[in-house]
Amino acid sequence: MLQQTTVAAVIPFFERWMRAFPDVWSLAAADEESVLKLWEGLGYYSRARNLLRAAREIVASQGGRIPSDPLQLCKLPGIGPYTASAIAAFAFDHPVPVLDANVLRVVARLRNFQKAITNASGRRFLEQSACSLLPEENGCLHASALMELGALICKAGRPDCPACPVKKFCLARNPEKLPLKAARKPVIHERDLRVFARKNGRIFLVPSTGPRWKGLWLLPPAVSEGKVLFALWHTVTRHKIRLEVFAARPRAGWQSFDPAALPPMPSPHRLALSSLLASNIAPRRKSQSPQIIPAFSPGTPAGTRRS
Ligand code: SF4
Repeated sequence: MLQQTTVAAVIPFFERWMRAFPDVWSLAAADEESVLKLWEGLGYYSRARNLLRAAREIVASQGGRIPSDPLQLCKLPGIGPYTASAIAAFAFDHPVPVLDANVLRVVARLRNFQKAITNASGRRFLEQSACSLLPEENGCLHASALMELGALICKAGRPDCPACPVKKFCLARNPEKLPLKAARKPVIHERDLRVFARKNGRIFLVPSTGPRWKGLWLLPPAVSEGKVLFALWHTVTRHKIRLEVFAARPRAGWQSFDPAALPPMPSPHRLALSSLLASNIAPRRKSQSPQIIPAFSPGTPAGTRRS
C-alpha cells in the first residue's frame, strides 16, 4: 500500500483491509471485485490485484507461509527488490538494505556521492554502500533507524547536521546539494472524455478495457463533446489527465447499476459520479441547460487527485 502513497493516506485503508483480510488465507479466498472495492480510492490498482495473486500463490504453493528470503519474495507478483527487502527487514528482522528515498539520500550524503542516483550505476554504488553499513543482526532496527534519520534529520533540502548522530563519519561537503538526480521526464497532458447517463434511477457504466484500471468500472466513453458537466484533473505517474464528463442517453452494451450498490471504480470516475448524483443532474434534454460544476484548473494542486 505504501508504494507511491503516503503513510497518512494509507492508514485508514490499511485498517479496513486488515479487518477484512486478517491473514493470507482470508485474502486468498476473496474474489477480485471485493478486493478492488476495498482498495477503491487508494489508486494504482495493480497493487491490489498483485496482493491477491501473491496471497493465492503463497497459500497454493507454500502452505500459507510467507517466505523470508528476498530472492523468494521477488518471485511473488508485485514484489520487487525494494518491497522484498522491506518485508525481509521489517517482518523477519533480516539485515538487508532497504533503500527508500530517505535512505538513498542519507547514503549518498554519507559517501558524498557526486553522480546521479537515478541511473543503474549510481544505484549499484548506493546498494553496495548500504550493504557495507549493515549489522549482523537487528535488521529491522537498522532499517528503521536509517529511514528515521532521513525523515527527521538528514532531510531533503537542508539537513540538520549538528544534530546528526552519524556526523563523525559523514563525508558530505555540501549535503543540501545531494543526492544528484537525472532530469525528470516531461509531464504528459491528456484528456479523458466520459459521459453521465441515467435512466429510471439507474446509472450506466462500462468495464475498463485497459491495463491501468483493469477490473474496475468506468463512466462510458464520450463519442462527441458537449457542455462539460464536471471536470477534474488527476495524475497517474507522469500523466496529467483532465477528466471531462458530458450528458448522454444510455446506449446498448452499457451496464446499469443502482447508485446505492456501485461496483469498484477509480477515484476520479467515482468522484465525478458522486458529484453528479449529488447535484441531481439528469441527462441533458433539448429544453434543459446542464448545470456546470466548476472545473479545476490545470496546475491547481487542490484539483489534482490520485487515480
Ligand atoms: S551529517 Fe548531515 S549530511 Fe551527513 S548524514 Fe548527518 S544529516 Fe546527513
